[in-house]
Amino acid sequence: MDFKDYIRVIPDFPQPGIRFKDITTLLNNGKVYQAAIDALKERVQGWDIDVVAGPEARGFVVGAPLALALGVGFVPIRKSGKLPGETVEAGYDLEYGKDKLAVHKDAILPGQKVLIADDLLATGGTIATTINLLNQLGGEIAGAAFLIELGYLNGREKLNGIDVVSLVTY
Ligand code: 5GP
Repeated sequence: MDFKDYIRVIPDFPQPGIRFKDITTLLNNGKVYQAAIDALKERVQGWDIDVVAGPEARGFVVGAPLALALGVGFVPIRKSGKLPGETVEAGYDLEYGKDKLAVHKDAILPGQKVLIADDLLATGGTIATTINLLNQLGGEIAGAAFLIELGYLNGREKLNGIDVVSLVTY
């Protein structure tokens, strides 16, 4: 199955010049969504994974079903101020300004092997920040899995050589 056929490219969103990869057209087709999760599961076969973590919000729609498919739990990475318990935080630069991600302090036990999942790898900033958070908790990064990778932005280079899989590359 060519998953690219189910991803809609919307020009000039969220700002002029950006060609946004819209995955809602993939998600609303149950067979294709299931096939995408199955394909990611296959790509990480043999990896040592205790838990999956994904950044809000589209990391949830990839990471949570992938976690269930792998038979492990899911850890949400959220924007600062959203999680109710004690958290650790890490900041990152956006195109304009800064943002912060957070995770519950007790979400990962030291030494647990964490697979990171998100819809799309662009510059790698979001995942580099997620790695920072998981490392603060003593987690080990098992690798990262994406539906989409924007190869021309070289996001992989920001990820300290961790194993990365993606289903579709632009
Ligand atoms: P990065 O931090 O790697 O530059 O950007 C990746 C993050 O931005 C991901 O969490 C992803 O959800 C979001 N993102 C950036 N561009 C796109 C896009 O074209 N399509 C989608 N679906 N998400 C995007």
